[in-house]
Amino acid sequence: MTAVALRERGRGYDVVILGGGVAGSVLAARLSEDPARTVCLVEAGPDHGADWRSWPPKLLDARALPRDDVWERRTEVHRIRARVLGGSSCVNGCWHTWGSAADHEQWAGAGGPRWSAAAMEPYRQKAVRQMRLRSVPEREFNSFSRAALAAARELGYPEVDMGTSGGPGCGTPLINALDGVRWNAAFAYLAPARTRSNLTILADTLADRLVVRDGRVRGAEVVVDGRRETLTADTYVIACGAFGSPGLLLRSGLGPTADLRRYGIQPEADLPGVGANLTDQPGVFVPLTPTPELNAALAAKEKAGELYVSRMLVRAASAVCSDGTDLHILPSAGNPLFGSLPPGEYEAGISAFLMKPASRGTVRLRSADPTTPLDIDPAFLSDPDGRDLAALRSGLEIVERMAATAALEPLAGPPSGRPSRDLTDDQLRARLGTYWHPVGTCAMGRPGDPLAVVDGEARVRGVSNLRVADASVLPTVPAANTQLPVLALAELLADVLKEAGA
Ligand SMILES: Cc1cc2nc3c(=O)[nH]c(=O)nc-3n(C[C@H](O)[C@H](O)[C@H](O)COP(=O)(O)OP(=O)(O)OC[C@H]3O[C@@H](n4cnc5c(N)ncnc54)[C@H](O)[C@@H]3O)c2cc1C
Repeated sequence: MTAVALRERGRGYDVVILGGGVAGSVLAARLSEDPARTVCLVEAGPDHGADWRSWPPKLLDARALPRDDVWERRTEVHRIRARVLGGSSCVNGCWHTWGSAADHEQWAGAGGPRWSAAAMEPYRQKAVRQMRLRSVPEREFNSFSRAALAAARELGYPEVDMGTSGGPGCGTPLINALDGVRWNAAFAYLAPARTRSNLTILADTLADRLVVRDGRVRGAEVVVDGRRETLTADTYVIACGAFGSPGLLLRSGLGPTADLRRYGIQPEADLPGVGANLTDQPGVFVPLTPTPELNAALAAKEKAGELYVSRMLVRAASAVCSDGTDLHILPSAGNPLFGSLPPGEYEAGISAFLMKPASRGTVRLRSADPTTPLDIDPAFLSDPDGRDLAALRSGLEIVERMAATAALEPLAGPPSGRPSRDLTDDQLRARLGTYWHPVGTCAMGRPGDPLAVVDGEARVRGVSNLRVADASVLPTVPAANTQLPVLALAELLADVLKEAGA
């Protein structure tokens, strides 16, 4: 929609959703089901259209992680996030797992019974159906992932269903790749909704700030075609993701007062939790040396167009895990995630990811200008008790044992370089990557919780017509990949908004 058309909509909308990523797509689709409700979805990135065949091939190819349509190029790896309608579902690894009962206990403790495992189950199922999630087809396995499953069994891990809660075990994720096409949230949720006359999608439109006065949002200032416009609505929903949502709140004067003043922003509500509590899942990749036979088998898979880097995982409990599981052990073999190798050579290895880290980072502004990149510090392995380091070392022990199994050893030699158990803490830190699952920067919590930004119904404290509904509201990260939990929470919050008469 053009800026002119935008101005012509002067009467405003029932609901404006800022951020057209995973959660924003779900909310826009569900809230526009009622033709009497007008909904406007605002996305900073492009809309590649209703027909998936017209999308850029790189965003469709489920065999690789694209680096197009992102907020920052050539940046630190933990900062990567999508800027496109459909959000990070357009650039992600396509696989889905569900956490443990302990996750829901933490969320229900913060947000009430709606967040219990039983209450969220129908929303998990709804998301699985709508995203067309399915188990990995046999042909997508390669000899390494097949051997890795055997290796996990050799270590005593039972096969488990990774799409539901449970204890330690091995198995395959649910995936949203259909014949190699990454089936993103824009396809799954927005494509069927686009023809509705009550749904407006504004792509290439940057949400700068909300105009807040006397505890109410009066408008959303957006930048479109280089010009500033104000959108008005009865209800505003922020869904800009774990980095973008705190950024938008802070620019709107909703955050820690001292920080806001530093950037010349007039405080409208003192919310110390905005941008605090950033929780992401770090991990370490342990490289193995593929045998010529493994390289040849992977080359054959690539020639057949069926080379997927990883298709199985182990859900494990570290030596310091007190409840549920806290590790993903992820064998992978194929083209490297970063850089490239000569033709016919591939990267193989096993990663250990911390699923329930204790460390907490921050998202802060560097300026009030919405085009200035945010200050994002994941503060990996910074917890004062050293629990995260201990859990990581425990995970790396499992990696070593797995690499030495009768099933895997014939395919890939021992880790190159120093064994991970001999690495110092600083050396481990230098090798950290991320699973790209940030949450927690606008966390929900009970009324007395000083860091709570929203309540269990996603209402922002101190602002009557504003909600946040995306990964940022989860107070703790699940012991899972986050896309399915975010899809489920957005389905849940769409119902909450409908009940509230939004
Ligand atoms: C590289 C990568 C790989 C991943 N792999 C997996 C995986 O395999 N499995 C899994 O479960 N999860 C994975 N994830 C995580 C998963 O994609 C996220 O949990 C999920 O996308 C979070 O949804 P969200 O709606 O909170 O944020 P997003 O999907 O990131 O959506 C936020 C949207 O808001 C828009 N936005 C932000 N700021 C503004 C603004 N100011 N104005 C307008 N629009 C704005 C963004 O452009 C974006 O489209 C991965 C993530 C990344 C980055």
